[in-house]
Amino acid sequence: MTDTATTNRCYCGCQTAVGYGRTFAAGHDKIAEAAYLAVHHNSSVAELLKTSSHLVSRR
Ligand SMILES: [Zn+2]
Repeated sequence: MTDTATTNRCYCGCQTAVGYGRTFAAGHDKIAEAAYLAVHHNSSVAELLKTSSHLVSRR
């Protein structure tokens, strides 16, 4: 094991080191989420829900 094996870089692309098993620095999941929405759903959460109706129809 090395130090590099115990840290990851934030998945949003900002190069911030995050702990092992973490994918994003604090709050950066929102950055990535916004980027994802911009690319895939016209920056619209409504579009996301519309195309993911199986997620919201579960009660
Ligand atoms: Zn980040």
